[in-house]
Amino acid sequence: MTDSSLLIREAELLSSRGPTAICDVRIKDNVIDAIGELEAHPGDTVIDARGSLLIPGLHDHHAHLVSYAASLVSVPCGPPAVTNENELAETLNENPGHGWLRGTGYHESVLPNLDRGWLDSFGPDRPVRIQHRSGRLWIVNSAGLETIQEQSQILPDHERARLSDSKGLLYDVDELISDLTRSAPPPVDLASQQLARFGVTGINDMTPANDKATSDWFTTLQASGNLLQKVRLSGRPELTVCQTGDGLTIGETKVHLHDTSLPDIRALVALIFESHEQHRMVAVHCVTEVELVFALSAFRSAGSQWGDRIEHASVVPPKLIDQIRELELGIVTQPNFIFERGDAYLKDIPEAEHDFLYRCRSLIDAGIPVAFGTDMPFGHPDPWLAMRSAALRTTSSGHVLGIHERVSPEEALNMFLGELDAPFSPRVLTPGQTADCCLLDAPWHEIRNDFDSGHVRMTLKNGDVIYKSA
Ligand SMILES: [Zn+2]
Repeated sequence: MTDSSLLIREAELLSSRGPTAICDVRIKDNVIDAIGELEAHPGDTVIDARGSLLIPGLHDHHAHLVSYAASLVSVPCGPPAVTNENELAETLNENPGHGWLRGTGYHESVLPNLDRGWLDSFGPDRPVRIQHRSGRLWIVNSAGLETIQEQSQILPDHERARLSDSKGLLYDVDELISDLTRSAPPPVDLASQQLARFGVTGINDMTPANDKATSDWFTTLQASGNLLQKVRLSGRPELTVCQTGDGLTIGETKVHLHDTSLPDIRALVALIFESHEQHRMVAVHCVTEVELVFALSAFRSAGSQWGDRIEHASVVPPKLIDQIRELELGIVTQPNFIFERGDAYLKDIPEAEHDFLYRCRSLIDAGIPVAFGTDMPFGHPDPWLAMRSAALRTTSSGHVLGIHERVSPEEALNMFLGELDAPFSPRVLTPGQTADCCLLDAPWHEIRNDFDSGHVRMTLKNGDVIYKSA
């Protein structure tokens, strides 16, 4: 920032409970300099908010930035964009090109047994890899398998073996594949610009494989202006020793559980214990009841600390709510999946469990700290869609799922306003605070009934405009 300051006139500010007054806000030297009835200084840039809402910049508390960037140069292979075999074939053959074509979001409802054979027959004549929406499975065509085998010469035999399968089905090789394809880095700059359009000024990147290389890469991207958001990086234990700065900090040790191949519980207990010894909290991915029971039991043995997190908590049976509260664990969940995947849940999940899915209200009422993240690119990256889904609990076809888990619009917004390192306490704009904020084009009484990223007029990070609507 230069000497000049920015005066936002007649903005509506929120307290943690709702709207406060209409105020003028001066931003100077990267911080909120003053709030009140303010006179313009000579040289001020003046923006007239005309009573529209000004909020702290949104923080997405569970994101995968690199995968999201990669998703921008790949094709969707699952609902709602692609719902059947013909659409899948069309999508894959839509864009001419050479080199890897990456598909995302595939689900069996599109085509039950997608494999190498189908891709060879109906896909394009280039290396193709399609990721199952669970994130665990890659389905690869023959050209793709060949490319992978060539590129993986350097890997030890046991790792190469994991990258070969006669049907082209590669499980849990996300890290290996991203290592092999790192030569063509995904467009993080485009991803970052898109997030700025949503009003996002910070993310908690929860990718389990995040390591020193990720930390160095993000630092370089931030320095060159290609990554606009602040990032708190969770991931491997080794991140503990990484250098941090204003734009990049280190978060939890991230543990990814799969209920079909759970680790030795003693190993998880030891990992939690060691992380705590190094003053790092632990975040455990739990999308099934089994995974949640396993994680809770590990936290009970190792001892939980304030700031330890359960990610997703996709399925929480009533009997586990008390246990989560007793362990003082926070939950970072994704109500956007009620909108995005709710119709499939209604069909595929027994009715008795519908109320257990992506709970919000019952967790808050039980005194459990809750915050939201989109899980981009597995979930839609737009936080406004997640807020709408949390407040309405409607699926994309309009069915209501888990009506008792609705939260108020005020609560839904607050779930994206916590500090990156304290996601459960919403920020409010106050003088002296770093000027990360988001100006909308309407007052709160309109926004609260119409959560839509189209209302974002301007996004500022450290006082710099990182997005301005046309
Ligand atoms: Zn995730």
